[in-house]
Amino acid sequence: MKKFLIASYCCLFGLLVGCQKKEVPKKTACVEYPELVKKYGFFLDNYEVINDTIQPGDSFGTIMDENGVGRSTVFEISNKVKDSFNVARINAGKPYTILKSKDSLHHIKAFIYQKNKVDYTIINLSDSIYVENKHKKVITKRKVLNGIIESSLSEAIQKDHGSAYLTHLIAGIYQWNIDFFRIQKGDRFKIIYYDKYLEDGTYVGVKGVEAAVFEHNGTPFYGFEYEIPEDKTALTSYYDEKAKSLQSFFLKAPLQFSRISSRFSPRRFHPVQKRWKAHKGTDYAAPHGTPIWSTANGTVEKAGYTRGNGKYVKVRHNQKYSTQYLHMSKIDVKKGQVVKQGQMIGRVGSTGLATGPHVCYRFWVNGKQVDPYRHKLPSAKDLPEAHKKAYFTYIESLKKELDNIPFKELKINHTTDEITFTESDGNKSLESATRAL
Ligand SMILES: [Zn+2]
Repeated sequence: MKKFLIASYCCLFGLLVGCQKKEVPKKTACVEYPELVKKYGFFLDNYEVINDTIQPGDSFGTIMDENGVGRSTVFEISNKVKDSFNVARINAGKPYTILKSKDSLHHIKAFIYQKNKVDYTIINLSDSIYVENKHKKVITKRKVLNGIIESSLSEAIQKDHGSAYLTHLIAGIYQWNIDFFRIQKGDRFKIIYYDKYLEDGTYVGVKGVEAAVFEHNGTPFYGFEYEIPEDKTALTSYYDEKAKSLQSFFLKAPLQFSRISSRFSPRRFHPVQKRWKAHKGTDYAAPHGTPIWSTANGTVEKAGYTRGNGKYVKVRHNQKYSTQYLHMSKIDVKKGQVVKQGQMIGRVGSTGLATGPHVCYRFWVNGKQVDPYRHKLPSAKDLPEAHKKAYFTYIESLKKELDNIPFKELKINHTTDEITFTESDGNKSLESATRAL
């Protein structure tokens, strides 16, 4: 035990003063105990360690109480640390660690609260009470993903072990250019992105997408992340191979993907009124409460209720364009309010003449209702001229790299009616997955 302690102290103080031969009986004492675990800045071997998870109904007070800390001390701790850590904010499900002295007193020396995979808070209770908000070291790894659409973007990304958040980012990058409700089987994509990991290999999440190309209906849509030095508006940071911004006047849809249940049509059988009439909108079926957003910047022209529309909002974007959103369960804006593109204006419901929760999206051009999917809308803007030279230099190697990644292909074998996924060079089968039609 004595030898162990000396070794620990040596390693502990060794960081500051180096190993001093006088205090260490053996030259190799510093490396004799490789099992010494340092976590959160503490040598865990020096403590009695309790690892647990905050349970529903737990509070900082109850946890301290269970570990022998009296009420007045808890009050003192809460008060002392309140500027950097609110003890009332600890959440059920989060892990925590308690370090106690190894002696017979079992005094709490530290309470460590793990806010998320990266950030943690140490309440140090050793000699004086103080808080440290810290984070674990995060490593980023550059990755490549190529996929092909069989049914949906998320399914295709997951097949290649991409996360739901990566799907969200790709949908966000292309939201002005690709209608993800209309992507087709065989549409394919290549993505260069960064994942975040802790030093122990724990996956933390996606950091961002560096470059991507999405081939929709045979047309490639490139996207390169680029930051204009003096422009900090994050939304405009993806441009194509011609330096055209991917952002444009209208979003392709007023909500995050769901399903188009009825398209704009001059004649359809009305499900509630039970008669044939024109459907001058696009219906998106989505769960009750799904946020509905304005597809472009504008001013709320109407926010109200009619028997047919239910709760609805109409936004005027300029002299030429207006959009309308029907059957909401909740309206989030007022008449006259200025709204931004992508801002939530209400939630999906089934008020008015509706058989189920959906939003009916209507689009006006010069006072006439049109199908926005068949109408040429204002185009995207270019990167400012002054930045183009630097941009083209930046994307040159990136585009080459992207182009050199093989696309996946759907190959239909007519004799067996099976679809096989292969690399486009045709040499090697990338996926073992085959699917009967
Ligand atoms: Zn409709």
